[in-house]
Amino acid sequence: MVTPSRIALARRRRGLTLAELSARSGVSLQSLSNYETGRTSPRPVTVDKIASALVFPAAFFEGPALDDLPSEGISWRARSKTSARVLDAARAAGVLGAMLYDWIDERFQLPAVDIPSLGKPDPETAAGMVRTRWGLGDAPAPNMVHLLEAHGVRVFSLDPDHAEVDAFAVWRDGVPFVFLNTLKSAERGRFDAAHELGHLVMHGSEHACSGPEAERQANDFASAFLMPRASVLGHMPSGAHVDQIIRGKRIWNVSAMALTYRMHDLGLLTDWQYRSTCAELSRLGYRSDEPEGMAQRETSQVLTKVFTALRTKHIRPSSVAAELGLSTEEMNRLMFGLTFTTFPGGNRQDTASTQRKLSVVP
Ligand SMILES: [Zn+2]
Repeated sequence: MVTPSRIALARRRRGLTLAELSARSGVSLQSLSNYETGRTSPRPVTVDKIASALVFPAAFFEGPALDDLPSEGISWRARSKTSARVLDAARAAGVLGAMLYDWIDERFQLPAVDIPSLGKPDPETAAGMVRTRWGLGDAPAPNMVHLLEAHGVRVFSLDPDHAEVDAFAVWRDGVPFVFLNTLKSAERGRFDAAHELGHLVMHGSEHACSGPEAERQANDFASAFLMPRASVLGHMPSGAHVDQIIRGKRIWNVSAMALTYRMHDLGLLTDWQYRSTCAELSRLGYRSDEPEGMAQRETSQVLTKVFTALRTKHIRPSSVAAELGLSTEEMNRLMFGLTFTTFPGGNRQDTASTQRKLSVVP
């Protein structure tokens, strides 16, 4: 039996309209529409055509219905011209990520959710409150992916094909998910992670989390969280030159642009100094890239531990993907750049031995 909503989900995942899927699969538009609404059910040969056109294993369409991620609860960090279709494809990938996490959650002991919901304070205060609660004081923030994971956030990679989306965060059944663009510089990845943390903390699941004001708040939160006021004032001189900023950014593992913005915010750079520093950094290539940046991107501790533990039990990623009705390629895209593990294909194996819960609490 085919689950109608899964056809629609896979189609959205590929960013296709019904008409486009019809052209690709040779199945009529009206039939596809009927399958997605559940009015009629496709015969196996038709399911194969649809599966092949969508590059999904046919088994995917037989699974139970999956809850969509609430579109109004998602805080998109994306270029303003990003099409609704790309956002919808990224959201559909998010549903698959949540499905993978459910699979992991049934077999592994994951860190409990510890994301305070702070409501109304200003971003600077909110960042300080989270730092205090998590015992960070004014020290530079550690690996942001590990930090989020240690406090219960499920972190995944955005599809590398959706490069125009930077990140998004969403609550699902009381569990926070963050999807990161892992093609950006390591420093910008840290900022995106802190930005999404800001949304989770300040906007939660019940507050409006989109629009310019929410974006500004999340940026200010990220800036304050990564570069605590006392720490920046203690390390950076007033009116610092570009070379001092380029050295200084390594203290907090932030981009030179982000540190410049923060210094201006804290009164260490005048408006004029801020503008000339930004122009100079642009000239040196710091607007689009991060020369002399961090050696490595931050990776996921949870996903790495999970797949390492599975490997010691001779369970290949391809078996996990098959159990979920996904191709290995599809599953890898959810973890792209977040694990050091390479996932060669392999034979399907029994995963019954994973039934006992393994602990990956960092
Ligand atoms: Zn945002």
